[in-house]
Amino acid sequence: MTVIAETALQEEIRDLARRRDAVILAHNYQLPEIQDVADYVGDSLGLSREAAATDADTIAFCGVHFMAETAAILSPEKTVLLPDLDAGCSLADSITADQLRAWKAENPGAIVVSYVNTTAAVKAESDYCCTSGNAKAVIEAIPADREILFLPDMHLGMWLERVTGRKLRLWLGECHVHAGIRPGDVERWQSEAPDAELLVHPECGCASQCMAFGNGRTHVLSTEGMIRFAQGSPKSRFLVATETGIIHRLQKEAPGKSFEAVSERAVCRFMKMTTLGKLRDCLRDGKHVVTVPDDVAAKARGAIDRMVAIG
Ligand code: SF4
Repeated sequence: MTVIAETALQEEIRDLARRRDAVILAHNYQLPEIQDVADYVGDSLGLSREAAATDADTIAFCGVHFMAETAAILSPEKTVLLPDLDAGCSLADSITADQLRAWKAENPGAIVVSYVNTTAAVKAESDYCCTSGNAKAVIEAIPADREILFLPDMHLGMWLERVTGRKLRLWLGECHVHAGIRPGDVERWQSEAPDAELLVHPECGCASQCMAFGNGRTHVLSTEGMIRFAQGSPKSRFLVATETGIIHRLQKEAPGKSFEAVSERAVCRFMKMTTLGKLRDCLRDGKHVVTVPDDVAAKARGAIDRMVAIG
């Protein structure tokens, strides 16, 4: 698409959003042209907070299905639209509500902490939700004598065990994109770019190993944490170990600094399903509406409210 065609489509989208009284929310991993047309770009926690706070009638959610479900639970009176219903998540798909019920039955009395990358039905079976931005605070808010079932991301879980000193029971799920960033990718960059700071997302297959590097220039951070760190750092070169979509936002919000992906393969095909054409169609035609059954939403809301409340 030419720049002129892209700009025209973005103007059409802004106009449709105004007429529908819609707010456009976009995840950090969305395509650059989607991030640029959005009202708000952020991580799961930030997007949940925006969805809960907005006055708009409609939320056009540029992300994946479980995120739109979370918005629908937090704002039941609003219409939540997802531009492509096939935008799923391999991590969320790694555990079903039936599997979680069986796991709970094997561990009676345990507290269930679910990463936000889960279906509404799994959240409904959980005591707490968390994102990578507040997972440590959520674990630390649970009394030390309580057993914790943590799901579905084992890499985030292993990182949490290291930073909190708590033993967690871990579900062995993973995000194929982040798990694909291997310690070898990081080690190669560490030797080739000794002047660079390394920013690592805790979902990565290398995150718990990176903690062991102890070199003072490796930082395990949520995507929002990466942006704050880059803005505040006196350093000018950063290697980024997460989905490559974050690089666009880092370049915009920390101008004049250099950001390089440790793995160009770290691209989530689900996140990239949202295109300007699909976003335009979604706002023009009011599709695809994402809803959550009332009974599931009521049970899931408590866990999500605790996530939004814990900073
Ligand atoms: S990057 Fe991984 S966790 Fe995030 S939406 Fe894609 S598959 Fe799911």
